[in-house]
Amino acid sequence: MALRQIRVDGDEVLRKISKKVEKIDDDLKILVEDMFETMYDADGVGLAAPQIGVLKRVIVIDIDVLKRVMINPEIIEQSDTEMQDGPEGCLSVPGVEDVVRRPNVLRVRYMDLEGNVVEEIAKDLYARVICHEVDHLNGILFTDKVLEK
Ligand SMILES: [Zn+2]
Repeated sequence: MALRQIRVDGDEVLRKISKKVEKIDDDLKILVEDMFETMYDADGVGLAAPQIGVLKRVIVIDIDVLKRVMINPEIIEQSDTEMQDGPEGCLSVPGVEDVVRRPNVLRVRYMDLEGNVVEEIAKDLYARVICHEVDHLNGILFTDKVLEK
């Protein structure tokens, strides 16, 4: 395992669209291990591959109560009436915390590291982290979505 360098806002890799993963191989497994190590080292709860300069649709999440690897995640349904406004930060935007509106409930579909297609309902913090990380795969940072004060 190796620590990777976290890219910060201003690095154009963070503004690119990541590519779908076509196959799960050893390189991908190493990438995932490195992402967890890098995320834990930086005290984060989620990390997307482009944040370490890899334009692949892979995210890792660890919010204590659950830990996930999501390959090609897609938010296939989300509440547009039940929203949550809460503080967010990002390892790629150090020192900034601001309030972002996210759906309180969503349904996500992804592939796990064994290649199984999984569908899950996510709520509260888990839903927020998924939205934040999926945004990274589309070149979006949370600072683009901060609520007007
Ligand atoms: Zn982030």
